[in-house]
Parts: sequence; C-alpha cells; structure tokens
Amino acid sequence: MTTYQHILLAVDFSNDTDFVINKTGDIASLSRAKISIVHILDNIPMPDTSYGTVIALNDEADNALLKQEKENLNTIGDRLNVPENQRWLIWGSPKEEICALAAQENIDLIIVGSHGRHGLALLLGSTANDVLHHAPCDVLAVRLPNE
Ligand code: AMP
Repeated sequence: MTTYQHILLAVDFSNDTDFVINKTGDIASLSRAKISIVHILDNIPMPDTSYGTVIALNDEADNALLKQEKENLNTIGDRLNVPENQRWLIWGSPKEEICALAAQENIDLIIVGSHGRHGLALLLGSTANDVLHHAPCDVLAVRLPNE
C-alpha cells in the first residue's frame, strides 16, 4: 500500500482544532509521514512587513493579534513535533494559499476540519469544500464533532 509522505494540516484555531490535531498525529505516525502546518491570516489586515505574505515565526510582532496567531501555531507545532521551517503563517485566502502551499511543498495529503453544513451555509461553501475542489493532492476532511 502507498502511504502518505508529507501531510499538511490546515488549522483555523477554532475550538475543534484539537480533534483534527489528534487525528493528524495518528495518521502521520501510521504512515511515518512528515507534517507541515499552516494557518492563513484572513482576519487581520496585513501590516507593513518586509516578509511579503509569508510571516517569519521568530520575528517580533507588533500586532497583538498576529502575535497570538504565531503563538497558537507554535503550540500546535510543538505538540506535533513539526520543525520550525514547516510551520506556515501566510496572508491571503485559505483556499488559495493552502492549495498553493501544498503544491510548493510537495504535499500528498491535506487535512482540514469539516462541519456538517445545511442551507445557506452549504450554498456559500466552506473552506474544506473549496480545498477539496482545488487541491493538487488528496484531501482528508475530518468531520468535526457537533458544536
Ligand atoms: P470552515 O469550513 O471555514 O469552517 O473551515 C473548515 C476547516 O478549514 C478548518 O477546520 C481548517 O482545517 C480549515 N481552515 C479554515 N480557515 C482556515 C484558515 N484561516 N487557515 C487555515 N485553515 C483554515
């Protein structure tokens, strides 16, 4: 059987993130895969920075929200033993940046959380759905527990 070699976990730091982190850890150990993690900054304005859209995690952040996002990402990275150069904080749209990063880093499995959606939310679509339709590789949408 072919196993996955490089998994990308996309995290939004919602309350359900723990569930997806645990599942990612289990799948990575079973396939002995390398893990990268990414959070897309789609909720804070991009400050004037020399880094472009990819944020250096070891740099001092003036913006309190950005600092918090870096800490959140590093906490998950430490939990999953992800090397620092495989922790990504990127400005932009989640669908586009997650898929672009997967192509750039030769990812063979993207893991996202998935909420059961109905009605208007279903029509508007979800990040999981967007990624599924644009990813250059397999995608695992982990069904999140009901809120
Ligand atoms: P949503 O459909 O937007 O509620 O998000 C479902 C899943 O998409 C989350 O559990 C994450 O895996 C991923 N996701 C959503 N927003 C982001 C983000 N800003 N950065 C990285 N992953 C995200």
